[in-house]
Amino acid sequence: MDPAAPPRRAPPPPPLPAPPPPGSPPSPPLRAVLLGPPGVGKSSLARAFAWPDPPGTPPPHHEGPEPPRERRLRVDGSAAALVLYDGDEQAAGGADAVLLVFAVSDRGSFARLAPTARGLPPASPPAPLILVGNKSDLARARQVSPREARGLAAVLGCRQHVETSAALRHRTEELFRAAVRQGRLHRRRRREGEEEEGEEGGEEEGGGRPRRRRSLTGRAKRFFAGLVPLARQRSKSCSDLSAL
Ligand code: GDP
Ligand code: MG
Repeated sequence: MDPAAPPRRAPPPPPLPAPPPPGSPPSPPLRAVLLGPPGVGKSSLARAFAWPDPPGTPPPHHEGPEPPRERRLRVDGSAAALVLYDGDEQAAGGADAVLLVFAVSDRGSFARLAPTARGLPPASPPAPLILVGNKSDLARARQVSPREARGLAAVLGCRQHVETSAALRHRTEELFRAAVRQGRLHRRRRREGEEEEGEEGGEEEGGGRPRRRRSLTGRAKRFFAGLVPLARQRSKSCSDLSAL
């Protein structure tokens, strides 16, 4: 070889990990369920899921829940299929994420979420909860502040709190992406948890979650008893929630 020749180029980077073999079964769609009292906008959120692009023309609103619908979303660089159930308590049994919906303009709907969360069918690990304050467009009629909602999210062990307006499609896609993220984490925890049963800690975003239901009643009662003084308490940041 000629010693005067220029140095050879660096070798190419190692190849990317191989994709799953073509024959491997696709993972079943993630399942999320909207739960909450009547009138908070669950069916409207389900319609925003099915017809995400305003000014889309969904069929006329009908009485009763929307049928479950499946959509593909791209979240964090990879595609996921998500089926969204509208107010179907039975579907909550096998759900990968439960979206607890209240209307920010209706304090009564907010107060009814703790019993709803308490009534969820037991699951191990429990499905992740996302607290949804819908009707955020009704600013002048607001009865529940974001700070109070974050407080309830902490009490119920919710992993996220999102304010949406199904009417304006505001932050609705963000909510559905959050459901995919939480659903993926749940699936992974379920796979890994079965192997690691009995071990303490090691869970993403807050170990100890399986104990949620045992302490929920007392924590929820204390929370609602303290709602008035809450206004004078120091606020808790969103990021504190996942540690509780
Ligand atoms: P569900 O009983 O929880 O399924 O609630 P619906 O989706 O049927 O909504 C109840 C009422 O609230 C309907 O009149 C909706 O048009 C209205 N609604 C739903 N979402 C919103 C929202 O984001 N903003 C406003 N202003 N109204 C909403
Ligand atoms: Mg409905």
